[in-house]
Amino acid sequence: MLGQRPSVQSLAEENWDLVVVGGGITGAGVALEAARRGKKTLLVEQRDYAWGTSSRSSKMVHGGLRYIAQGDIKLTRHSLLERERLLQELPELVVRQTYLFPIRKGKFPGRWAMKVILWLYDFLAGIRDHRWVPIMEVARRAPGLNRAGLKGAMSYTDALTDDSRLVMRALHEAASHGARACNYMEAAAVTPGADGISVQLRDVLNGDEATVKARCVINATGAWADRLSGADAKVRPQRGSHLFIPMERLPVSDCLTVMHPRDQRPVFVFPWEGRTCIGTTDLDHPDSLNFEPVCTRAEIDYLLELINSQFPQANISDADIISTMAGVRPIIASGKGVDPSKERRDHAVWGENGVITVSGGKLTTFRLIALDALQAAGLIDEDERERSETGGKAFSHAVAAPHRLGHPLAPMPEGEALREQLAWVLDNEMVTRLDDLLLRRTRLGNLLPDGAAAILEDVRALCMDKLGWDDARWQDELSRYQDIVQRYYSVAPRQAEASAA
Ligand SMILES: Cc1cc2nc3c(=O)[nH]c(=O)nc-3n(C[C@H](O)[C@H](O)[C@H](O)COP(=O)(O)OP(=O)(O)OC[C@H]3O[C@@H](n4cnc5c(N)ncnc54)[C@H](O)[C@@H]3O)c2cc1C
Repeated sequence: MLGQRPSVQSLAEENWDLVVVGGGITGAGVALEAARRGKKTLLVEQRDYAWGTSSRSSKMVHGGLRYIAQGDIKLTRHSLLERERLLQELPELVVRQTYLFPIRKGKFPGRWAMKVILWLYDFLAGIRDHRWVPIMEVARRAPGLNRAGLKGAMSYTDALTDDSRLVMRALHEAASHGARACNYMEAAAVTPGADGISVQLRDVLNGDEATVKARCVINATGAWADRLSGADAKVRPQRGSHLFIPMERLPVSDCLTVMHPRDQRPVFVFPWEGRTCIGTTDLDHPDSLNFEPVCTRAEIDYLLELINSQFPQANISDADIISTMAGVRPIIASGKGVDPSKERRDHAVWGENGVITVSGGKLTTFRLIALDALQAAGLIDEDERERSETGGKAFSHAVAAPHRLGHPLAPMPEGEALREQLAWVLDNEMVTRLDDLLLRRTRLGNLLPDGAAAILEDVRALCMDKLGWDDARWQDELSRYQDIVQRYYSVAPRQAEASAA
């Protein structure tokens, strides 16, 4: 377990083999792979674990059909093998899910092109899971799907997860191998020296500062990577947004891949934690990374346009949207100025003097990304990297989390089951602010209307009991949390955006 949040002074009393900066899936993966090799590891995160991109993805542990279509066989194969590994190692958190790809007359790809792609996709994963689904079965599985030109669908499988729970799971595993982690701890500067690397830490909650010493530093700060890398800028931040709507308004049991009528981009419509999730968009994100990204009015309209063209009877509107969620993808820029959707999704590792930066890539391949970063930092050699690529288990400790916490296909917990989940998280997961609990450790703020307003009294009692908050602290946390929900996750009136999604 993560234990108590340490003070910055206590962290400075120790010498570390490795300091990992960034508490998203990349940093958590690096900490896990280092700690299980006996390296004395510290991870620091400037906000909350998974506060960055790793709580805002499409939640798919997948090979990615788009990558195979782009001819990126290596990335697809690595992703598929990692998918299969995670399905085996974390069956409570990474769950196989059927996908349906509707095929329409005169539209690309047709049935046979999809069959070839899916044959290769399954072959690379070492499974055989795709099949043709006739039109009547599609109508049953996706009620209300537009029948115009519909010939049937290709069915295949990939996997879904809860991305921020996956980060927490990796952190718990790292901690069970002795790693320490601290949220709300910013790495303000990294300075290589003759006797190791100095990392200047600043406790964001109380302003305390101290310098810790490490043999190596891995900068795993995703979209923020250029700030600490000390090299030329490489990251092209791109925003992607999702909408959550009630399952009753758009019941889907498969993950549907449907084409947007405006630009023929594939968009997913899928079941997730008892709601229907729709996304994503793909846009350059020139806004400041000091603030949470927001799903713009233009993106909401773009996603509503998609859903109402695919499900014309559903009449989904703003009134149906429980919440929105925007994330910033750290894309390693090709420098060619191509359309955001066409940039490659590979990760990159660069740096020297013991300070290594890693950015880009996917949630799915976090373990392989971590191995690359550790090799670049000189903490493992090429032989070990190659051995680890296929062998060994990343997750070998049990975590006694409550049943179905973070299960992507479980219905919303209620009553005693919900209280049990919240109490466990408060006892074990370094919850520091109210939004940690409601937007990342659990997703209640995204999944229940008005930021889970209906259960906030129960949450208050639990926070007082478990975290020792008094009335003043609760009021402070509540107004901060409600402000965050209103600004970044709701469908509050937004300025009409000039840029189309
Ligand atoms: C819309 C969208 C959909 C996606 N869908 C998928 C998908 O379905 N499947 C998939 O495999 N991948 C998907 N991805 C990609 C995946 O989410 C990202 O590749 C991954 O989450 C990046 O993780 P990360 O740890 O590198 O970055 P982050 O999760 O952003 O973590 C970096 C962290 O570093 C912290 N930080 C920054 N500066 C400092 C500092 N100075 N000190 C301390 N901490 C600092 C930040 O606060 C942040 O929490 C998607 C991405 C987006 C945007």
